[in-house]
Amino acid sequence: METQQDPCKLPRNGRRVILFPLPFQGHINPMLQLGSILYSEGFSITIIHTTLNSPNSCNYPHFEFCSFSDDGFSETYQPSKVADDIPALLLSLNAKCIVPFRDCLANKLMSNAQESKDSFACLITDAAWFIALSVANDFKLPTIVLLTDSIAASLSYAAFPILREKGYLPIQDFQLEAPVIEFPPLRVKDIPLLKTQDSNNADKFLSIRDNQIMASSGIIWNSFEDLEQVELTTVHQQYYLSIPVFPIGPFHKYFPAYSSSLLSQDQSSISWLDRQAPRSVIYVSFGSIAAINEIEFLEIAWGLANSRVPFLWVVRPGLGRGAEWLEPLPKGFLEMVDGRGYIVKWAPQQQVLAHPAVGCFWTHSGWNSTMESICEGIPMICQPYFADQMVNSRYVSHVWRVGLHLEGKLEREGIERAIRRVMVEADGQGMRERAMYLKEKVDICLQRGGSSYQSLGRLTDHILSL
Ligand code: UDP
Repeated sequence: METQQDPCKLPRNGRRVILFPLPFQGHINPMLQLGSILYSEGFSITIIHTTLNSPNSCNYPHFEFCSFSDDGFSETYQPSKVADDIPALLLSLNAKCIVPFRDCLANKLMSNAQESKDSFACLITDAAWFIALSVANDFKLPTIVLLTDSIAASLSYAAFPILREKGYLPIQDFQLEAPVIEFPPLRVKDIPLLKTQDSNNADKFLSIRDNQIMASSGIIWNSFEDLEQVELTTVHQQYYLSIPVFPIGPFHKYFPAYSSSLLSQDQSSISWLDRQAPRSVIYVSFGSIAAINEIEFLEIAWGLANSRVPFLWVVRPGLGRGAEWLEPLPKGFLEMVDGRGYIVKWAPQQQVLAHPAVGCFWTHSGWNSTMESICEGIPMICQPYFADQMVNSRYVSHVWRVGLHLEGKLEREGIERAIRRVMVEADGQGMRERAMYLKEKVDICLQRGGSSYQSLGRLTDHILSL
């Protein structure tokens, strides 16, 4: 389904869609990819975004960008602490942005009306912007929600009231290994808890978010039917009963990517991979938010070195708590792995995963990373840290069986064993075969008549009908 057409020359349908991404990498990527998909369906695209982590508009000359400042939120914002209290962070971000967002949206709607440009069809908002629906309602603009999680993770958030009623929450240490009977294959420790100082914040955040989803005109997922058929059925039957849902993923496979990366992607990763044997390399990245302590950092480094498997490791500045970059590595480490290991600050991940030299992805199980790996048929070693990563990891290891979950204390011996299991042993071969099977399913769902292709058709008609 890839196209080489100049996007600026594609025909327009006279309707404009406003997209409102949350200002974090794992949310910006799918929202801008969705913008490209809808643009190719004929819609004009406006991106409303915060000045914090603003996307690079130069990469999208065919989109219109409108920014607003966040009323002081970014003055206290510390990227390395995002995961420490996500509910408090998102409650504060939403509270600070409601007025500037309203002003920005009002200006946009007014200026277009005055210049009699395209008519606005709807606002598509990230689910975590729970101010969006009420603001858009004031302007009589319909809202569709983009859920950047898997359908399974979205369901498990929606199920929190039931999990509480059944006694799984708050989680007790002695229950961690127990199965969540109502939600196989999750165990209690896979429930996607949001780390917070105040559990009231998490409840408040999830309940406002859920109310917004329930009141929206539709839900879009970056997933596809063949991957999450059971979960999709549950959505219809038990949760978002009368809301139209559109699993149109994987978003990034529709086109050759425009980059929505906030950090510069080190292209030398690809030239390094070009010099490696097919399927010989383990790619290691823990996404844009997860942070680890120095002991974990060293165990990862020694696990990689001792495995004797070539590795490409993304050490994002801020990955190691309290470290600028690679200072915690022992003297002589880099010389020892020279030629066999390559470390970069940020990689062109989609290109890396599509490279024939890559044989395994050691990931934090963020949903974008999981999808990107599935799309290339790459088996995973999952090391989830928080929230939906727990659910994704469980599905990768126990439902789709395309990877293993690295559990327990992070130690070099366990890491070495896991790498060998996936890269060398028969077990890993089975994971790779199943991953390749899912890759074929991806190709089919995007083709004419495939499930995502059809969902996109329904989404386009739905937006035009709003
Ligand atoms: N990513 C990237 N280069 C890197 C690491 C990650 O471009 O070196 C991209 C990756 O392709 C994905 C996103 O950053 O699209 C991370 O999103 P994900 O949901 O996996 O994790 P998060 O960062 O939200 O925890």
